[in-house]
Amino acid sequence: METINKFDKHVMHSYGRYPLVIDAGSGRRCTDENNKEYIDFGSGIGTNSLGYCDDEWADAVCRQVRTLQHSSNYYYTAVQAEFAETLCEQTGYESVFFCNSGAEANECAIKAARKYSFDKYGRGRHTIITLVNSFHGRTMATLSATGQEVFHNYFFPFLEGFVNVAANDIDDLKKKADDTVCAVMLEYIQGEGGVNALDREFVDAVYDICAERDILVIADEVQTGIGRTGKLLAGEHYGKKADITTLAKGIAGGIPMGACLFGEKVRDVLTPGTHGSTFGGNPIACAGGNVVLKKVTSDGFLDEVNKKAEYIKSRLEKCDEVESVSGLGLMIGISLKTKNAAETAKKALERGLLVLTAKTKVRLLPPLNIDYAELESGMDILTAILEG
Ligand SMILES: *Cc1c(COP(=O)(O)O)cnc(C)c1O
Repeated sequence: METINKFDKHVMHSYGRYPLVIDAGSGRRCTDENNKEYIDFGSGIGTNSLGYCDDEWADAVCRQVRTLQHSSNYYYTAVQAEFAETLCEQTGYESVFFCNSGAEANECAIKAARKYSFDKYGRGRHTIITLVNSFHGRTMATLSATGQEVFHNYFFPFLEGFVNVAANDIDDLKKKADDTVCAVMLEYIQGEGGVNALDREFVDAVYDICAERDILVIADEVQTGIGRTGKLLAGEHYGKKADITTLAKGIAGGIPMGACLFGEKVRDVLTPGTHGSTFGGNPIACAGGNVVLKKVTSDGFLDEVNKKAEYIKSRLEKCDEVESVSGLGLMIGISLKTKNAAETAKKALERGLLVLTAKTKVRLLPPLNIDYAELESGMDILTAILEG
């Protein structure tokens, strides 16, 4: 109670919080102040990709804290060099800009796309097409990019130059891809929008139209990236590589970090002085990121992610209350027939399971290294609630 009282008094009330004070975590479980244990199917919204305080990750992070916690980007560090090299090699990108969050990664992508077009074509070709029901972040530019009217409130005026196309509507895209457009920005699977995967035909059309007109594709993989969907990047499911891909959430295992990856066309678009971040590429975050990348790209890791996803789906399919299951890999949306998602999440919390919601769905983003015993216990709790 003391903690919650302090929050109520002193922390801005900008979140609806569950009445849980998390005290510590280990593996895929955390405990509250009374030592009640919770299995975590939310990973801090997909950030604790290796669960809580993974040994190798914690060792690397602690070692880095005691060696060099920060240096400005006026200098070089070996740990950032190593992370950049592995990230580019593993994803097939040419260069990377490091920042500290998903919104910042998308800000960087927006600036880079506009500059690419400005450098080549001059003024006026600055429109970025985003999709209806998308989510790209909470800064002014990324809110403006976000294609949900509920987010376009209070903070007027929003940034100009964003046009929304209905997801999976190729005609709408063709109509709006005029000569003011410099980029199309999309999530392959809309996360906050309700765990909706884009249709393959639509993604194909986006890439075709963009290739024809030298329009850049920006993939917001802040939620879907770094193994979440069973591939290192979700674009691989579609056989696509965007000109720019943004990452954050799970990239450093729970330490703030964002990354904007650049393909050949845009590899040198941000020149000295055009963009920056004091904390970007922070050594501690890079040390955490190195361990996450090493594990996620190790032999068989992503196969296991996919097998675990199949296990969850098979349990859900047997559940009468489940209308349908969406998503890919360990990014799972559950539509319910009669029950309410938020109520279900509350009940799960009471019974020792943390789950998320997205719009009207229950959303699961379990740690990528969750084991079958934990999966089973968690699914037992969830299905009991759904069947109850
Ligand atoms: C979470 C999220 C963001 C915003 O990331 P922050 O780290 O909260 O700024 C942007 N895009 C997508 C797809 C996300 O899921």
